[in-house]
Amino acid sequence: MNIILLGAPGAGKGTQAEIICNKLNIPAISTGNILRQAVKDGTEMGIKAKAFMDAGQLVPDEVIFGILDDRLKMDDCKNGFVLDGVPRTIPQAEAIDNMGVKIDMALDIEVRDELIVERVSGRRVCSCGATYHVKYNPSAVEGICDKCGKPLMIRKDDEPATVLDRLATYHKQTEPLKDYYRTKGVLVEVCGENSVEDTTELVLKAIGK
Ligand code: AMP
Repeated sequence: MNIILLGAPGAGKGTQAEIICNKLNIPAISTGNILRQAVKDGTEMGIKAKAFMDAGQLVPDEVIFGILDDRLKMDDCKNGFVLDGVPRTIPQAEAIDNMGVKIDMALDIEVRDELIVERVSGRRVCSCGATYHVKYNPSAVEGICDKCGKPLMIRKDDEPATVLDRLATYHKQTEPLKDYYRTKGVLVEVCGENSVEDTTELVLKAIGK
C-alpha cells in the first residue's frame, strides 16, 4: 500500500507514520528527517536546505524531486511506503504521479491551528527519527530515546515564531493537496485532535487494520 500522510506541522504525521510502518512492514519516508540529516552532515543538499528550513519555508521542489527519485526507487519500497511530509506542493504531487507511482491513500490528519503551537512546543525528537511529546507521547526516561538511547532534542524550527510561519506555508502551499487527492478519490480525513491512541485507532481503521 502506498500511503501519503497529509496534515499541518505537529498534526502527528511522524508518530502515525511509525505505527503504520510497523503494522504494514513498509518504510516511512520523511523528507524532513532526510533533510535534517543532510544539514547535520553538511552535504551540498543540506547547505542548500538549511536557510529555508530555519525560516519555516519549503525547500525548493527540485531538491525534493531528487530525494523522492532516489528514495522511491529503493528495494524496500517495493511493497509500499508511507510518505510523511511529502508531497507538500502540487508540483511535488505531480512529480510522484509522473514517476508512475500509484497512491492508494492520502490520509489527512486534521488538527486546528490553535492546538498546533502547543503541540509543537512539547515535541522532542531523536536523530534516529523517533518523535515524542513531553505530555502526549513521553519517552520512558525523560530526555532519552526509547529506541536508541540517545538524548532527545528540540527542533530549531519548532520555536513558536517559526511554527506560525510553517502553518502559513502549510495553508498556502500544502492544503490544496487535499483537493488534489479528493479529486482522485483517495483522500481520507481523520481527526487528530485527541490522544495519540485515538488518532491511531482512526488511522488503522482507515487502512483496514
Ligand atoms: P517536517 O519535518 O516534515 O516538518 O519538515 C521540516 C522542514 O523541512 C520543513 O519546514 C521544510 O522546510 C522542509 N521540508 C520537509 N519536507 C519538505 C517537502 N516535501 N517540500 C519542501 N520542504 C520540505
